[in-house]
Amino acid sequence: MCKLCKEKPVYEFTNQRKLCKRCFINYFYKKVLYTVRKFNMISREDIIGYRKSSDVKAVVLEEMLVFLSKKSNFKITKLPDKKANKIAEDSSLDSESEEIIKSLISGKESDLKKYLPVEKNAIKPLYLFLDEEISLFARLKGLKFKLKEKKRSKIQDFENEFEKNHPEVKRAIVNSLLKLYNKKE
Ligand SMILES: [Zn+2]
Repeated sequence: MCKLCKEKPVYEFTNQRKLCKRCFINYFYKKVLYTVRKFNMISREDIIGYRKSSDVKAVVLEEMLVFLSKKSNFKITKLPDKKANKIAEDSSLDSESEEIIKSLISGKESDLKKYLPVEKNAIKPLYLFLDEEISLFARLKGLKFKLKEKKRSKIQDFENEFEKNHPEVKRAIVNSLLKLYNKKE
């Protein structure tokens, strides 16, 4: 049952905490607010650009930017628009942890900085979410999106296999990078 309200759960975290639909949606909004504040992603004068697409992560990113811009009073704009001074990207724990491993395996440590939550003018509001959480949020909110069948890489297969016995491995990889750059979650 949902940890907070005893309703039927829609999601279970690796620590077995379960949430119902309403509490999961609430958790998602709160976490995106936390992420944006924690990593100082946006200030009031910013104009945040984003790429419009029907991909589930892009659709959820747009939904979150609309929510955040109403709450914190900054502007958002679809790319390409020259007015944007920052670009929001739809990277998640899955995509970032995969890129971090790839950089380490290929000895490109100098690339690692690219996978921080804020890098130059790029910001990543979905940085602390798993892909499965992002898809579930889109479904629960009834957002319109297309599921693209992406070819999974060997590293993703490895991570997913590893995660069966070591839950939270993606989070651990990203946390190590944050620690390395003193931006611990
Ligand atoms: Zn609940």
